[in-house]
Formats: sequence, structure tokens, C-alpha cells
Amino acid sequence: MRVSVPTIPDAVLRNAQQQKVTVTHAFAVDRIARFLARGNAAVITGAGVSVDSGIRAYRGHKGSYLNPNYKPIFYHELMEPNARGAGFRQRYWLRSYLGYPPVRDAQPNPTHFALAALQHSSVTPHIITQNVDGLHHKAISDIWDAQRRKEGILELHGTLHRVKCSHGHEMERQKFQDMLGEANPQWKAFMEELERTNSRPRTNPDGDVVLPAGTRYDQFIVPECPSCLLENRRNSMIKPEVIFFGESIPSEVRDRSFDIVDQHDRLFVIGTTLATFSAFRLVKHAIQQHKPVLVLNVGPTRARELAVVETIEIPAGAVLRDVVKQVLGSAAEKNRTIAQMLESGVVRPPPDDYDDPIPRPTGL
Ligand SMILES: [Zn+2]
Repeated sequence: MRVSVPTIPDAVLRNAQQQKVTVTHAFAVDRIARFLARGNAAVITGAGVSVDSGIRAYRGHKGSYLNPNYKPIFYHELMEPNARGAGFRQRYWLRSYLGYPPVRDAQPNPTHFALAALQHSSVTPHIITQNVDGLHHKAISDIWDAQRRKEGILELHGTLHRVKCSHGHEMERQKFQDMLGEANPQWKAFMEELERTNSRPRTNPDGDVVLPAGTRYDQFIVPECPSCLLENRRNSMIKPEVIFFGESIPSEVRDRSFDIVDQHDRLFVIGTTLATFSAFRLVKHAIQQHKPVLVLNVGPTRARELAVVETIEIPAGAVLRDVVKQVLGSAAEKNRTIAQMLESGVVRPPPDDYDDPIPRPTGL
């Protein structure tokens, strides 16, 4: 099976250096606010939106992978029903056991809250996100119940916060995290030591978590699905509900993403290179319907292949609160919920040497 990792074409990366246009804060705020002011805009977000929350984007400002030796885990490897697959699962789940808590504990940043304010005000009723961290949900969870969040936020590449076995049984990720800890007490102790010293698992430049010398993946126990055990089946083929490289997006999710673009008059794209086809094709779909598209991102994006797409290069975190204030006018101050959202959000970018070991979705 041949699976390729999505990339940004070299020609786009080369042109990006020449086309770079620096805009002022005031220009960016005004331009984005005017774009959104007429309402009914759909939003697509990507990894760039979560960087201020401590979750590192996997492409740098130049559009290439930050880790040149980046090797993703492929779907067919993780779900291989044999000893080799079991080895992949041991390696994946040990790293994920150590890597999940920082993602679980990450908090929304001002961009998430500004978008939540726009969403709650019906300016941008729907968000399609490529992120698997659940931070858009967290930003609006105080005012929207689970059903409303499900309607308003489409996780194009799934979520890290649930896992599923190969027979379709779902489980909260934290429950599985606890099971992993119970099955591997030595790693639970290692994790508690990390927490006590308030240190994150560090990573080597090749993306591997730094593990104690002599660590053997083959001794890590991947627990069996409890629902399968109740059906007298032993099954430890469990994966997070994230779309892996080489895995298809479920058709209902893909169809819903197109429906959302169809239902809106314009498309606002934030913090993504659009390297993955699942997001890029939505932009192309909007253009085919003659809908205006505005991209806010730092660094090159595939949108540059599309001459009609306007791109603004400035960090979203620096402008979006002011955009919301301009779009909503006095309501941004008078509405207590909105006003509170515009004061919320952590800004805690990841340290340079931190390469989070979460799986990278693609939607090929
Ligand atoms: Zn099961």
C-alpha cells in the first residue's frame, strides 16, 4: 500500500517568499471585519489556531515540516491484525500515553474565544476544524450544550478525546488513558513523576519522546476493549478517533463539510496551510460557487494556487479580538457573555524543543 504525506507544492513555497505582503494590524482588523460583517460566514481552522494554547503546528513559517525527519504513523500500520501491528500499537500507545495529558489539559486561547464569540453571535454559525484537540468545544462549552456544539463545530479529522476499537465500540480517551496506566504501573509511576516535577515529556529532534534508557516498547501492554470482552472477544485494536495518514474521512463527515460550505455565503480560513486535501477541496468548492474566501495565516498556503483567494498574513491571535469588537460594535461590550469571551484565553506557545507526539491527521 502506498500512502503519501500531503505537502505544499515546491512552486508555492518558492513563490511565497516573493509574494509575502506584510499588513498592519489596523488594515487586517478592518479588512477581516468588513469581510465578516455581512454574516453567514463559514470558518475553517487549522493547527495555527492552537499554537498559542501550547499545541505546536507541524509546519513552520516556511510551510515545511518543522521536523525534517517527521515520520507519521499510518492507519494500515496501526490497524494491522497481527504481531507487527501489535508492535505498532505498543509504540503508538506508549508515546500517546505520555503525550496525551498536555493536549487534554490545553486551554483555549484568545483566537478560540473570539471565534466562539462570533459563533455565538451567529456571524459565523459553523466552524469546520482540522484540529483534533477539542479546543473550539472548550471555548464555547460554558454557553453551548453538547448538542449545539456538535451542530456548530465539525471536526473534519476527528478528535483525540475519544477512542474506538476495530469493532466500533467507543470510549472516552481519558477512560482508556486510565486503563493504560493501570495496565502499565511502571509507566504510570513515570508519568506521576513527570507531573510532580511539572515537566512535559521531552522529545528528540526526530520526534521521538525521550524515554528512559533501556525502554522496551514490546513490554507495554495495550489493554483490550472492555465491550469486546463482554462479547467474549479479545481485541486490543484500538485507535483514537483521529483520521490517520492513509485513512479516509467518514462519508457523513465529508458530506457535512460540503453542506456547511453550501449553506454559507462566504468562507473564512484561519491558521492552516491547506496542505490536506480535505480542507483544500472545500476552498475550491466555495470558489466554484463564486463565494468569497479570505485566508488568515502566517506563512505560505495552498490558497496561493487559487488566484481569487485573498490572503492576509498576520497572526490570528493579534487581530481577532479587535475584529469581533468591530463586527459586533457596542454588543461586544454590552453583552456580558461576549465581553467575557473577549477577555478570555491563555497565550502559552510551546517551547521550541517541544514536539508533541500526537498523531497527525490528514484526511487523504
Ligand atoms: Zn470493542
